[in-house]
Amino acid sequence: MLEIDNTYNQLLSRACLNCLDPQFQPPKDTVEKVGCCSYSPTFQLLDIFRMCNDNVDQFWSIYHHPAAIIHPYSIFVKAEVDSAFDQLNTQSLSPLEKDDKRTSYSICQFFRKGKGCSLHPQFKNAVCRTFICTTIEEQLTSSDQKTMKEMIKKVYQETRDFQAIHSKNLKSQFIDLRDNPKAIVHYFQSIN
Ligand code: SF4
Ligand code: SF4
Repeated sequence: MLEIDNTYNQLLSRACLNCLDPQFQPPKDTVEKVGCCSYSPTFQLLDIFRMCNDNVDQFWSIYHHPAAIIHPYSIFVKAEVDSAFDQLNTQSLSPLEKDDKRTSYSICQFFRKGKGCSLHPQFKNAVCRTFICTTIEEQLTSSDQKTMKEMIKKVYQETRDFQAIHSKNLKSQFIDLRDNPKAIVHYFQSIN
């Protein structure tokens, strides 16, 4: 049901090949079934550091992605929303409900039909490496749940610590992703 991949610190499940989680079913037959890959990922400095050192082309491809929104120390890549969403009447929905509805019509820019995620696991963010739905979680033994939670805590801690240290260093050097992406690449390549 669940495999913990210690090489890339990620959780994997064969159940994702045919996602049955009720929360993540497509709202219509015409909307592609992508499970929880309806998500819009944000790449943090740790993910960017890894790309800069192991596949800088991957960094530039994400940086220049048409759906990318560049923040000073992270990159958000907005999922593609199926056009059927625009035909819905969402006037009675709260902003949060509307966001949830939009997500159910969305597909991550890195998802490929029949293949799943097109990113190397090393470059997937903490959420993508550790998200597990309740359908899978409820089927785990309490010992597996404990191991999984410890692993998730470690992954988030590592991401947070790296972000705190390096955003502070970069700020002190007046470098950010919006204005100096090449300097960010050099910075990360120099600390490898
Ligand atoms: S983690 Fe759960 S919701 Fe996500 S694809 Fe797998 S089975 Fe579906
Ligand atoms: S980056 Fe990959 S794992 Fe994460 S939501 Fe997109 S396709 Fe899914």
